Amino acid sequence: MGENGVALLNLPYKKIVGAEKEGDSECPRSQLDYVHRVTGERFPLRCKVNTCQFCGPRNAGLIAAAQARSEPRRMFLITDLPLDWQKIRHVMNQIREALADAGIRGEWAYSVEPNPSGNGKAHVHGLHHGDFIPQKLFSQIAKRNGAGSIVMIQEIRDLSSAARYGVKAAGAAFYGVKASKETYGAFKAFLDVNGKRIEHHSRGFYRLPSGKVVTQAEAVRAVISDRHPEDELKESENLWMVVSKGTSLELARRARMRALGTRFVKMPL
Ligand SMILES: [Zn+2]
Repeated sequence: MGENGVALLNLPYKKIVGAEKEGDSECPRSQLDYVHRVTGERFPLRCKVNTCQFCGPRNAGLIAAAQARSEPRRMFLITDLPLDWQKIRHVMNQIREALADAGIRGEWAYSVEPNPSGNGKAHVHGLHHGDFIPQKLFSQIAKRNGAGSIVMIQEIRDLSSAARYGVKAAGAAFYGVKASKETYGAFKAFLDVNGKRIEHHSRGFYRLPSGKVVTQAEAVRAVISDRHPEDELKESENLWMVVSKGTSLELARRARMRALGTRFVKMPL
């Protein structure tokens, strides 16, 4: 799912994430550029791989924004988990099944974070839509299935702070916002304990502001297009070409014309 989501993040990134400081302004792995067919404006394409120092934190920021926009009803914290993604996944699946057995319906999205104390444990921050979960029951279920008995769950009342917390709760935003060489080590540890993914969610978690249930990829796409409708327009006009680095606009145009079988037709400008 995460893979699918990031595969769609292929608009010129400067327009997505805003200005970056010099030296940290492009994906070091990409061999491709976006080039504007008319103006020749160029943007490096992102490789979009989570483990990329440049792209990973940006993927996280976009996913976090999509989570917040899904307007989850409550946020939760599950503690005292082993620092091992396979084990955590098992525990979380068991908890989810136990909640369903108790008649509680809902969807969630969560991310794992290593405990900052470095005590070899991890915790999960999550967001939840659906039925109310009594704290005591949640705590019992967590403990019975291999987590700590200390869990926290609370309703999100203020939607504006919910948006901010949503970002924080899912663990992703910090990395999306503070991306730098210094914080990359922390981001890498975060990916390791999440099985190289940024988040995990049940089907139906992601929604548009209209309430429509969408896939994560669609939710992320909506974040991008709502921030930058002009890019959507450019996309629809098919004004951007993808070329390898070092290919001039003129060369790219000619290649394009050949591909279209219109070699002798003057390119409309
Ligand atoms: Zn990259």
